[in-house]
Amino acid sequence: MLAPPWIPVPPSGYGGVESVVSVLTEALVDRGHAVTLLCAPGSRSGARVLALLDESHPDEIERSLYESDHVSRAFAEIDRGTPEFDIVHDHCGFTALAMADRLDVPLVHTLHGPFTTATATFYAHHGHKAGLVGISRAQWASAPPGLEPVDVIANPIETDAWPLREHKADYLLWIGRMVAEKGPHRAIAAALGAGVPLVLAGVIQPGQQAFFDSEVAPHIDGDRVRFVGEVTGFVKRSLFAGARALLVPIRWEEPFGMVMVEALACGTPVIAFPEGAAHELVVDATTGFLVNDVPAMSAAVDRLSQIAPRECRAWVAAHCDADVVAAAYERAYRSVAAVCGARDFARV
Ligand code: UDP
Repeated sequence: MLAPPWIPVPPSGYGGVESVVSVLTEALVDRGHAVTLLCAPGSRSGARVLALLDESHPDEIERSLYESDHVSRAFAEIDRGTPEFDIVHDHCGFTALAMADRLDVPLVHTLHGPFTTATATFYAHHGHKAGLVGISRAQWASAPPGLEPVDVIANPIETDAWPLREHKADYLLWIGRMVAEKGPHRAIAAALGAGVPLVLAGVIQPGQQAFFDSEVAPHIDGDRVRFVGEVTGFVKRSLFAGARALLVPIRWEEPFGMVMVEALACGTPVIAFPEGAAHELVVDATTGFLVNDVPAMSAAVDRLSQIAPRECRAWVAAHCDADVVAAAYERAYRSVAAVCGARDFARV
């Protein structure tokens, strides 16, 4: 399991890819596989852990200096062949996929981000070197022509680790990165329109301060709109579980949206704009509501009593639970490993 070099696995706070890697790795170990986790220092796992660089790089995400160093050390470990690997599962951005035809071990690459003009060109050129896995059908809709995934597999969650709460407190929740696409400012408008207090939680990453200062901070009054910063662990889970609903007023082709799954696991309905994978994660009128704009989001708050918390959790357990996802990845690994090596994979 080749994790990125940026953040330890599991992440202590923000870290979407690292959280997926962690949950999937533990599920594969539980299912009896011998897994080596190649990752950033500070990582913990039931798998054999091999940290490759001297430090993690949370503030230098996507810097090729660190990604290429990390991946080249990983390839040296894989080539050493002790133990001999059957499959490499890469979550690492771009370097490992671009060089996958240099490995003798076949590689499965999960695409965690959206296809943009630049990444579509990259995948059109290098995608044939590995078995590709998408994380939603919405994500794959923007793939370059002819590029086929081995499968589309949801991101996993350890459902039982999230508390189901059926009687909610009186607040709505928005949680995520402080960027316009994720819509914290639209969540504020929707909550004010509904007359229900809003809790905002999240990280302000480098480059996001100006947006936060102009669009979010002026509305924080500690009462109708509260900002609690980055949340982790028990506090985060309690915040998800207590909310009447998670607001997801996204305006971009969100390739997955882990926060929606986390809310549903706690029996918390999701009110989302119908963009990207929201179509696949929110079953309208069953696990929440898909609404087109801010006034409709406010209006949907009045209909939340129609949603049963237990149905939200049952949907997540059936579609995204770690064991379900690990079984799907086992099938993907087998179909890719059936081709004897990555060099051969690149030729077929
Ligand atoms: N997250 C967190 N603390 C925060 C804000 C976010 O742990 O204060 C986590 C959140 O629980 C989720 C991830 O960060 O697991 C965000 O993933 P998502 O797919 O929703 O969005 P991305 O930022 O990857 O587009």
